[in-house]
Amino acid sequence: MQLWLRPVLARTIIDHAQRNLPNECCGVIIGVGIEAHEVVPVPNIATEPELHYRMDDRVLTELFFRTQRDNKAIIGFYHSHPTSEPVPSRTDVALASYPDMAYVIASLRGEEARLAAWSIKPGQVKAIELSISESKPTPEEAPLSLVQKRAIIASVIIAFLFMLVLSLSLLPPAPVIPVP
Ligand SMILES: [Zn+2]
Repeated sequence: MQLWLRPVLARTIIDHAQRNLPNECCGVIIGVGIEAHEVVPVPNIATEPELHYRMDDRVLTELFFRTQRDNKAIIGFYHSHPTSEPVPSRTDVALASYPDMAYVIASLRGEEARLAAWSIKPGQVKAIELSISESKPTPEEAPLSLVQKRAIIASVIIAFLFMLVLSLSLLPPAPVIPVP
């Protein structure tokens, strides 16, 4: 999984996060495939907005319809962490209900705001590649599976053993030591 944000969109998310301090902000990312075209702020209606976020359901539903009409899709969500790292909290994981979407978190902790993107599935939270650039990123290479890694290790060992046997078989025969 991968997400491509042009710098202006990344800036929009960070600006939204800063405008909402001390509360968390939230919104949706609209686009096609891995490419984000637009980020849209959604009101945070959580009861403790400085600790959590909950998107306004009505606005979210409208956005779902609008994007469908425009032949686009909601490809991700974003929210901010005013004082913590851009890592999903336990509540973020518990409330994430779209396993195919990218969850972007903007952290305002530290001197410079940081963005990170995550895939959140039940029992599985994984960082996904977030490209913030003007040009389309190269498709990510599929990570090696465990079976592939084992096959590589096995072939290295077999090659080593083969070389060992070959070099031993090429050794000249041991010289005959004359017995006095
Ligand atoms: Zn969070």
